[in-house]
Amino acid sequence: MSNTAVESEATRTGVTTAFIGGKHVPASGTYQNIDPATGTAIGEVSRCGAEDVDYAVSSARAAQPGWAATKPEVRADLLQALAAAILANSDELTRLESEDTGKPLTQARTDATVAARYFTFYARAIDSYYGLSLPVDESFHVYTRREPLGVCGSIIAWNYPMQLFGRAVAPALATGNTVVIKPADETPRTAVRIAELAVDVGIPAGVLNVVTGIGAEAGAALAAHPGINHIGFVGSTTVGTSIATAAAQNLIPAVLELGGKSPHIVFPDADLDQAALFITKGILQNAGQTCSAGSRLLVHADVAEDLLAKLKDAFEAVRIGPGSQDPDLGPLVSLKQQKRVSAFVEGAGGRIITGGQAPTHIEAGAFFEPTIIAGVDPTADIAQQEVFGPVLVAMTFISEEEAVGLANGTEYALMAAIWTSDVSRAHRLAARVQAGQVYVNAYGAGGGVEYPFGGFKKSGYGREKGLESLNAYTATKTVIVKL
Ligand code: NAD
Repeated sequence: MSNTAVESEATRTGVTTAFIGGKHVPASGTYQNIDPATGTAIGEVSRCGAEDVDYAVSSARAAQPGWAATKPEVRADLLQALAAAILANSDELTRLESEDTGKPLTQARTDATVAARYFTFYARAIDSYYGLSLPVDESFHVYTRREPLGVCGSIIAWNYPMQLFGRAVAPALATGNTVVIKPADETPRTAVRIAELAVDVGIPAGVLNVVTGIGAEAGAALAAHPGINHIGFVGSTTVGTSIATAAAQNLIPAVLELGGKSPHIVFPDADLDQAALFITKGILQNAGQTCSAGSRLLVHADVAEDLLAKLKDAFEAVRIGPGSQDPDLGPLVSLKQQKRVSAFVEGAGGRIITGGQAPTHIEAGAFFEPTIIAGVDPTADIAQQEVFGPVLVAMTFISEEEAVGLANGTEYALMAAIWTSDVSRAHRLAARVQAGQVYVNAYGAGGGVEYPFGGFKKSGYGREKGLESLNAYTATKTVIVKL
């Protein structure tokens, strides 16, 4: 599809402002948006405070009854139109996303396509989302209605800004809610741009509002606002805990999509070439800054050296560079994140198979080499905590029991992969491994708009994606009529 000529307000002015009630709303202060590939500022961003959040929530509240009363068919048409507008503007969205996050252009373009896919998927789904008839007693007519919750607050992370935006906003709007969303501090521009496009295609002003700003300010004000009826949060487990606390104070439902430490479990009967391919992509995609990155390799001792040799080759073939040059691996999102990754690697113990430092051939920017560390103690910090960098830690096992123990041996439980040609073992382990999604002989970090996704344990609760998300953004009302 060709790209449209109209550009965003931020592209024109260099200032990214909140978008509330269909208009750009500057806040009283700003902060700088930093390009992680160079460490230099690429524009100013409105630093919204509690007053701006309050205005956004009132706008969403005012728009909600009209939006909920709009026929699902019409809401679906508008969401489809927004999907088309995202695709039509994908050149600009791709550039903004790549500059904000540092991710390679090809990955940023995929994110735009997936964001559009969320709007298409939920537009189609809402057309056939109904309540039930419960014919249990002839003297009563009983049925259920799925009703929107009202105003949905949403706070998202910086690693897949457009995908996370689509994942939260599309099902919330499809079901008749209105939204106030806060993008991550580092990556505000695509959210504001898509909200502009929403108004352009005819979604009424106030239905979709974006507040930009700092997490502890705008984010905290949104999470605690008494005018929201649902809070969705994508981010770290630490901040997720404070969001859950705020939700409890207001007695509203929360969906928390938090961190992960997802394992690949590789048995000797696996196709090691395929495993090496997917394991490489599963940790290096987005420079390892993926909640569902496959960051732990649990490999049977009999094939460990063979698989590590294949992975070493694959990791060393990776091209590193600024996102704008469309390499395989861009920088981390910030110098702060680069320091954090270095600290994990320095304290890792074990044996570095490849990488282990910032690349010496690139002078500036938050880059880190693709890294494999073998023989890591399963209780070490690097084997337990989310590193959020291109770092794979490897451990060996002998028995299936030991593999399950290692897989379930962290406080996270988001995704897992089982590599084996034994179908019985695959299903046995799929049941025993704690994770919201389990792949067998494949891996897709966060895979599939259509597949329910979410965590157990400290990876959070609630499910997004797929049809389950429609239930998360609605409540059941049961109507009981005496005949
Ligand atoms: P973060 O928790 O620091 O920030 C996430 C969001 O919360 C940002 O928008 C931030 O501005 C906001 N925030 C920060 N402090 C806040 C506060 N006190 N009150 C309210 N909001 C606040 O996380 P991050 O470092 O931006 O993102 C990385 C984390 O996100 C990783 O742990 C990653 O695994 C997780 N993540 C999870 C998923 C998933 O679907 N499970 C997807 C992507 C990222």
